[in-house]
Amino acid sequence: MTTRSTELLRVAHQHPGVTRADAARRLGIGTGAATELVARLSQAALLAEAPATPSGARGRPTTVLVPHPSGPLVLAAEITHEAWRIDVVELGGHTLTTVASPHAGTPWPEVTAAVAQILHTYGGRVRGMGVSVPGTVAPALRLDASTAGWHDVDLTTLWPGALTRVPAAAVPSSGAPALSVADASTWPTPTVFVAGNDASFAAAAESARGAATDAAVALHIRIESGLGGAIVDQGHLLLGATGASGEFGHMPFGDPAILCPCGARGCWGTAVDGTALARFLGQPPPPDPVTYARRVIASPGPHERAAVGAVAAALGRGIAGLVNGVDADLVTLGSIAADLLAAAPAELHTSYRSGLMAIRRASPPPLVAAALGSDGPIAGAAEKAWSALFPQLP
Ligand SMILES: [Zn+2]
Repeated sequence: MTTRSTELLRVAHQHPGVTRADAARRLGIGTGAATELVARLSQAALLAEAPATPSGARGRPTTVLVPHPSGPLVLAAEITHEAWRIDVVELGGHTLTTVASPHAGTPWPEVTAAVAQILHTYGGRVRGMGVSVPGTVAPALRLDASTAGWHDVDLTTLWPGALTRVPAAAVPSSGAPALSVADASTWPTPTVFVAGNDASFAAAAESARGAATDAAVALHIRIESGLGGAIVDQGHLLLGATGASGEFGHMPFGDPAILCPCGARGCWGTAVDGTALARFLGQPPPPDPVTYARRVIASPGPHERAAVGAVAAALGRGIAGLVNGVDADLVTLGSIAADLLAAAPAELHTSYRSGLMAIRRASPPPLVAAALGSDGPIAGAAEKAWSALFPQLP
């Protein structure tokens, strides 16, 4: 497909409900060229047009660009320590269907079965999948999540027939497929399959559709069972050489007397999560630190308030260190980090400001709750799948 067709699809995706005229302006092309492009994409069942809602302004009526009714879809999956969820997402980010379930520690067969069921329902329309996981993902799409006991999990088994990041040119139009494909007749090709860390995906989603769309360098911090995050520089997610960037929870901003499950001492994550709250309250490490943290943060008791304040201060101190180091202009906070901002804003902001270099204190980069909330990781999974898919359409 031509670059302009790809760009037009991207514009329709990033700005749902964009008019054909506005899309033409964004691409810097004339209305005649835009009409032609839209006609071609419509013929390829990638894009459709619908009448625009009358704005009351005078002028020629225009149309808005909408997903084609039989156009491509991606699956966005989120797998956490306790549950899994799959969204079927159309161009523009709207979710058509969601399936979800709790799991008892081994979600993989259930998710694979759910993917097969969705492929049966939507057939060849499903062209890609993005998977968010609570751990690090190696380039070969193998997951390690030590806190969940998942080691070297092959994530490509979730969609056995997907061709993994194969450039369209590498997929032959006839003869043997480039890769071994299970039951190739039932799978659409080419397809894309991407997987990544939940905090990285949440960061990507905040920059694409959330609170950080206007930031030059956005820092995202997310606390679940541990602290993770990501840096998005001019729209580009910093992945690291092995895809394991963003393990900010293992920077030594914590108490050196505390041994982290990762093997290091003084990790920041051990000072800001549910185990940290339990330590302040003189209680044993909770079996479910996320639920425990939410309960303590919601509690009005004076001891709980003090523990929450102390943990919020430890969070603010570490964020200041990161902002000093990477020169971010916005910090978005997800999950329990957002809960701490809401519950103890004074403690968090005071320690954040006192940890900032004087040159940054005149206008400190704002700390804001992630706009996508708990949907950040799955929204990021969808965005990553679309990004990988666009160059391969139609
Ligand atoms: Zn650690």
